Amino acid sequence: MLIGVMSDSHDRIEAIRAAIEKFNSESIELVLHAGDIVSPFSVREFEKLNCKIICVTGNNDGDPMALRKFLGGFGGELKDVFFKLEVGGRRIAVTHGEWPELVEALILSGEYDVVVSGHSHDASIRKQNDVLVINPGSCSYPIVDGVVTIGNGTIAVLNLEKMSAELLRL
Ligand code: MN
Repeated sequence: MLIGVMSDSHDRIEAIRAAIEKFNSESIELVLHAGDIVSPFSVREFEKLNCKIICVTGNNDGDPMALRKFLGGFGGELKDVFFKLEVGGRRIAVTHGEWPELVEALILSGEYDVVVSGHSHDASIRKQNDVLVINPGSCSYPIVDGVVTIGNGTIAVLNLEKMSAELLRL
């Protein structure tokens, strides 16, 4: 089972469209968004996904009630601050990442096989304490060579059978 992972889309419509096209071209069964959708108007783009999306609030999500309502219009969900789910026999935790201590606590808790966060816009995939730790970066404003740039951002695909993930540059 493949899970799409993205974060920090920050209203950049063309980047969201590119991410969704990529996810739809793979056999993705669920998309996790680690926060900072930002404005409700950009939510409508996610309706084009061929699968369900579950999001978590980020520090730039100023109107969570509207985001939740718009997402709910096509079966999407918005969770507050943190959520966990079990899928394909794997326990996954998702939080935006503005509190690094929270991310660290989730990794060290022993409760999760996968921990997803964003916020830094700096994509990385690593193993820590036998936990697969995924930061998909930002699809819209990636960090390249230490500098925030516009465009050609990243998303990630998580393979639950293999317990591996790969970054895809849009
Ligand atoms: Mn953020």
